[in-house]
Amino acid sequence: MASPTIAGLARQLEAREVSSHELTQRALDRIAASQPVLNAFITVTPEQALAAADAADARRARGETGPLLGIPLAHKDIFCTAGVPTTCASKMLAGFVSPYDATVVERLNAAGVVTVGKANMDEFAMGSSNETSFFGPVKNPWGLARSPGGSSGGSAAAVAAGLVPAATGTDTGGSIRQPAALTGITGLKPTYGRVSRYGMIAFASSLDQAGVLTRTAEDAALLLGAMAGFDPRDSTCADRPVPDYAAGLGAPLRGRRIGVPKEFFDDGLEPGSAAAVRAALAEYERLGATLHEVSLPNLGLSVPTYYIVAPAEASSNLSRFDGVRFGYRHPGAGSLEELYKLSRAGGFGAEVQRRILTGTYVLSAGYYDAYYLKAQQCRRLIADDFRRAFGSVDVIAGPTAPAPAFRLGEKVDDPVQMYLNDIYTIAVNLAGLPGLSIPCGFSGGLPVGLQLIGPHFEEGRLLNFAHQYQQATGWHLREPAA
Ligand code: GLN
Repeated sequence: MASPTIAGLARQLEAREVSSHELTQRALDRIAASQPVLNAFITVTPEQALAAADAADARRARGETGPLLGIPLAHKDIFCTAGVPTTCASKMLAGFVSPYDATVVERLNAAGVVTVGKANMDEFAMGSSNETSFFGPVKNPWGLARSPGGSSGGSAAAVAAGLVPAATGTDTGGSIRQPAALTGITGLKPTYGRVSRYGMIAFASSLDQAGVLTRTAEDAALLLGAMAGFDPRDSTCADRPVPDYAAGLGAPLRGRRIGVPKEFFDDGLEPGSAAAVRAALAEYERLGATLHEVSLPNLGLSVPTYYIVAPAEASSNLSRFDGVRFGYRHPGAGSLEELYKLSRAGGFGAEVQRRILTGTYVLSAGYYDAYYLKAQQCRRLIADDFRRAFGSVDVIAGPTAPAPAFRLGEKVDDPVQMYLNDIYTIAVNLAGLPGLSIPCGFSGGLPVGLQLIGPHFEEGRLLNFAHQYQQATGWHLREPAA
């Protein structure tokens, strides 16, 4: 049986065929049963969830309606949740309880969403495999020896396994789209500034953006509509109206132009994934769209550029974790200096320390011009490539990841191989654009993702393209065996 979508559950709630209490209890039971196998959650909150479900049922009983009212959902453990631990999958924040909700959490709560728990992730969202979590890796429901991708791997696994219909995620270099691709679900990373970053623990502030992992584009539209919009508490949050994303899903694609970057189909792309993506492009032609080759000549600069910009910002953002104000404090320090050193060395995992060291180095006097300044210039070149391409096409399409889910352990000792997993997603963050991944087939029995990229603030267009594809095909209905 296909796991229900938000839209489907909302209809059942509306018809009083089921209560939010029942849906929430079902989600909690499934999470409890799956946890020893998948490890998709860091914290599960049954009492708060059932209380929120009862409140949603009471709101419906009073005549309130809404597509999200009473829907169970998981938050990536990077979003601050008042009264519930927020760890960012780090020992550094073990035991930290935020006194306030992130804006994303606050808005979804207001819409009546029921939070069932906090999803596992890579430590401080640094990773592409979920193996850097202090709380252990997440398993891919399509193959338990495989990674679900990262850093939103717990969110992706929870949705793919049907534990919850949707989860939030964050995407700094691909962390929503890549795990969505590797687990066969839909993942939307909005335009930079579309969704508030307030209360979302910062990794690289000029790249981080909150988004959603769902079964369908329709569900992503419903959630984005509730999350997006101006927030005075985030100065980079755009002050522009939020469209009715669900209302735009039905527009026909006849005559729409899809740009296919030749650089996306390079030697690094696994043949089975390339075939699935090509077949998806052919499906779009059947839907009336036309394909046009475009070029993103500076795409090759994106991974090296990102691995200067992101660690530089991370080294600054993570300086606040000093053993004094938050979380872990080493018990054996004899001086303040030693307290910093021992707490940071003991609280951060290896990948986070690698990023802090890299970031501090590229920002240091004498190296700043050669690395950081250069990277900013490359970033502009990459953004200009997209701007040129969008002069002649409506969306850009290609693969989300170079290959289907890899084995856990396969890339952990080779950071560069791990970093290359984001080769098709990272440029989108550097340019601040919206990107979406939808399932488009299989290779070797594992899901493959199609990535759609749009101009700034055109997430409605991406959702329309994705929805039309999902109306015509059934890849998004496929589920892993229980
Ligand atoms: N995998 C990339 C990294 O490790 C992107 C992570 C992300 O998007 N949060 O930095």
